[in-house]
Amino acid sequence: MLARSTLQQRILCVMPLLSAAGILPLTIYRFIQAEWDMALLDLAIFILMCLIGYFAYHQKHVSTLKILFCLLAIFGSLSTLYLKGESQLFWCYPTIALLFYFLTVRLAAMSSLLTLIGIAILAAPFLSDLLLATFLITLMITASCSLAFSYETSKQNEQLETLSKTDPLTKTLNRRAFTEVAELQISKYQRNPVATSMILLDIDHFKSINDKFGHNQGDEVLIKVCHLIQQELRVNDYLFRIGGEEFIILPYAINQEQAIQLAIKLKELIEKYHFIKDHQVTISCGVAEYTKNEGTLKDWYAEADSALYRAKSTRNTVCPTKGTCYSDSQSRATK
Ligand code: GH3
Ligand code: MG
Ligand code: MG
Repeated sequence: MLARSTLQQRILCVMPLLSAAGILPLTIYRFIQAEWDMALLDLAIFILMCLIGYFAYHQKHVSTLKILFCLLAIFGSLSTLYLKGESQLFWCYPTIALLFYFLTVRLAAMSSLLTLIGIAILAAPFLSDLLLATFLITLMITASCSLAFSYETSKQNEQLETLSKTDPLTKTLNRRAFTEVAELQISKYQRNPVATSMILLDIDHFKSINDKFGHNQGDEVLIKVCHLIQQELRVNDYLFRIGGEEFIILPYAINQEQAIQLAIKLKELIEKYHFIKDHQVTISCGVAEYTKNEGTLKDWYAEADSALYRAKSTRNTVCPTKGTCYSDSQSRATK
């Protein structure tokens, strides 16, 4: 259940244990002391924590649970402050810290500001002005440090996410991103079957470019090929570099015929482009439309790969898995 969960989800899952250790003894103590209001409040918080832990364990996405958990923490610290006064002020510090851990920076900043206002209103009647000011200033320092830390972490996470899905040479998306996007397309197709195709594209005799003109020139060709392809794609189309000189295009909502036309257009564009003096660069493409029979991403990719294999027998060619291939610049069909 938790195999692919985040640390935040795991923390929510162990909340019943943490609150059993932290809140339950206090609840029992309050019952023994006959402090009924506090005892019932602690018991309610403990039960709600257990429910959050239960749902966090059984659900895949926990964004709503994170918000509920933070609301519970705010409610808990404000209500104990209201019922018991200054002795409960210490709960406010972990509350502020956990808002920044579980929520987005903006939501955490807004909710901690509202919490601070709530605390100031509730604490004002029983704290001297100096003590209230000291308390609020230290809380604001805690919130500011948490804000800075949370902001920096979220920026770093964004950069890491981008880096992990980008090919460093061509700046296109990489194989990892391909798997993610293609799996998503398959699951969308299963809910709502809209034509979805894959173009597997390989530069012909690329090794000879490296051998004749050097590796740097080879790199330049890869970058330029990507640039040319990107210019032809629409905003919702995806280009991935999945290996040395192999690419995949996932064009948005087009069938096999339309994908073949796009591949032919790219093939002709590249064959006419002067990458290197007196050397023609060409590509071969395999095209496969996803159908229910394809099943998994592996099967769909295998279809496109066998189409590419067909195209490689003549090179500078576009092929579907079965049927007509298109070879020369007038796109004359070859069977
Ligand atoms: P085919 O027409 O059958 O596809 O032949 P090919 O030469 O294109 O294919 P092969 O798989 O034999 O060679 C691919 C070459 O791509 C070998 C490898 O050195 C080169 N390569 C892989 N990654 C890079 C890269 O990042 N930069 C450069 N310059 N070359 C690369
Ligand atoms: Mg090649
Ligand atoms: Mg190859």
